[in-house]
Amino acid sequence: MTLRMRFAPSPSGYLHIGNVRSTLFTWLWCKSQGGKFVLRVEDTDQERSSIDSVRAVLDDLKWLGLEWDEGPEVGGQFAPYFQSERKAVYREHTTQLIRERKAYRCYCTKEELDAQREALKAANPKANFVYPGTCRNRTDEPDLPFVVRFRSPTSGSTDFNDRVFGHISTPNSAQQDFVLMRTDGYPLYNLAATIDDHLMEITLVARGRDHIGNTPQQILLYEAFGWQPPEFAHLPMMLSAKGEKLSKRNGSVSVKEYRDKGFTPMGVLNYLVRFGWSSGDQEIFSREQLIELFSWDHVNKGDGKFDDKKFADVAFEQLKQPSLTSLADYAAWVKPFLALRGIENPDDALLLRAIPGVRERARTLVDAAHDLDFYFREPPELDEKARQKFLTPAAAPHLQGLRTLFESVSTWQPEPLEAALKAWVEGAGLTMKDVAQPARVALTGRSASPPLFEVMTVLGKPRSLSRLAHASEIAQGG
Ligand code: GLU
Repeated sequence: MTLRMRFAPSPSGYLHIGNVRSTLFTWLWCKSQGGKFVLRVEDTDQERSSIDSVRAVLDDLKWLGLEWDEGPEVGGQFAPYFQSERKAVYREHTTQLIRERKAYRCYCTKEELDAQREALKAANPKANFVYPGTCRNRTDEPDLPFVVRFRSPTSGSTDFNDRVFGHISTPNSAQQDFVLMRTDGYPLYNLAATIDDHLMEITLVARGRDHIGNTPQQILLYEAFGWQPPEFAHLPMMLSAKGEKLSKRNGSVSVKEYRDKGFTPMGVLNYLVRFGWSSGDQEIFSREQLIELFSWDHVNKGDGKFDDKKFADVAFEQLKQPSLTSLADYAAWVKPFLALRGIENPDDALLLRAIPGVRERARTLVDAAHDLDFYFREPPELDEKARQKFLTPAAAPHLQGLRTLFESVSTWQPEPLEAALKAWVEGAGLTMKDVAQPARVALTGRSASPPLFEVMTVLGKPRSLSRLAHASEIAQGG
C-alpha cells in the first residue's frame, strides 16, 4: 500500500510552528518512503477562514520547502483541496448515516442546552455536561433547524495503536452523541476529516497529541461507514518556556515572524525537528540528512519546551556554515533583506565576495544585510559619530596619502596591502592607530567592520580609492 499522508491546516491567519513540526515529520516520511503528501485546507469554519489566511499558509509552506504532491492543477501548480468546496460530499455521507440510523437529527436549541448545562452546574459545579440524548429516539421530522449527531455506542471501547503513544483504549461510555453537522449544513471537524482522510486514501495521520482525544470519535465514524481507519501518529506538544500551550500570547508562533527575523527555512526546520525527534547528538542536519535519518522509531512522547535562545543559535549555526548554507543560497536569502534597506539590485560578484567576511558574525539575515550594506552604496552611509571622531582635518592628509599609496599597489590582496601600509606608516613616522580607523570609516562609513584589508579586497581597487578620496574631502571640511 502506498504511503499517503496529509497536512490539514485550518486557515486562521498564519502558519503555526507547532503545525510545521507535524508537517515536517509528515513530509520527511513521505519523501523517504516514496509516499504522497496531500494538502487539505480545513476551511469549513467560514467565520475564521479567509483567502488571505490560506495564502499566508501556502506561502510559508513553500518558503519552508514543504511542498505537497498532488491536488487540482492551477497555473501549472498543485492547488490544495479545500473542504469548503466539498460540502455536498459531507452532506451525502451524513444522509447515509441518518438513513442507517447511525446518526440522527437533533432539534434541541442552543438555549435549551445552555439551560440544562446551567441547571447541572447549579446542582453540582464540578459536573461535566454531556448531551442527554433527548432526540436520540425521536422519529418525527419537524420543520425546524437541526444539527446531526452521531449515535455513539454506549458500551465497549474504541482502540487503536498509535505509532508514538502505543495502544490507546477509550471506553465508549465516555463518548457523548457528538455533533457531525451544524444547523447551517457545515460539517464539524471530526466528520469532515474522517470522510476526507478516507476518500483521499490517507494511510497514516500525523498530528499533535492535542488531537488524540478526537481520534476515538474518528475511529467510530470509520466503523460506522464500514471503512478501514488509517494509522495514527500523535506527536508530543511544543510548549512555551513556562510549559504552557504555545500561542501568540507567550511567544512568536508564526513562521512569518521567523522569516522576518532573518532565519532561513532550514534554520527553522532544524529547530522544530528536535521537538519529538533526535538522532544521536547531532544538532544540525541538511534536508537530505533529515530525509535519510527520520523514522518513527526515534520519535518520543515527551513534550518539549520552546527556547528562543536555542532557536536563534540553531538558526545562526545553519546560516554560518558554508556546508549547510551555500554561498549562492546565502546570497539569494539575503537579497530580500538588502532590498528592505533600499539595495535592490546588488552587484552579484561583489555580494559573493563580501558574504564570507560577514557570515561568521551575522546571526540572522537581518544582521547580514546590515553588515553588508556599506559594500553597496557609493559613498557608504556615514555614521555621524564615526565621522566626527575619525574624519577630522588632521586625518585628511593621511587619507590622501593612503589613496596615493594604494594606487601604486598592483596585487590587490590583503597581504601586499598590509605590507604597503606598514612600510608607509613607518616611513611617515605615524602609527597604525593614526590611519587605521580613519581608513575604516572612509571605506565602510562605520567604526566597526570586517578587517580592513579584507574589506578593500572585497571592494576592489577603484571603489576603495574613490572612497578614500571622498572621505579625505569630507575630513578636510572637518
Ligand atoms: N484542521 C485541524 C487543525 O488544524 C486538523 C487536525 C488534523 O490534523 O486532523 O487542527
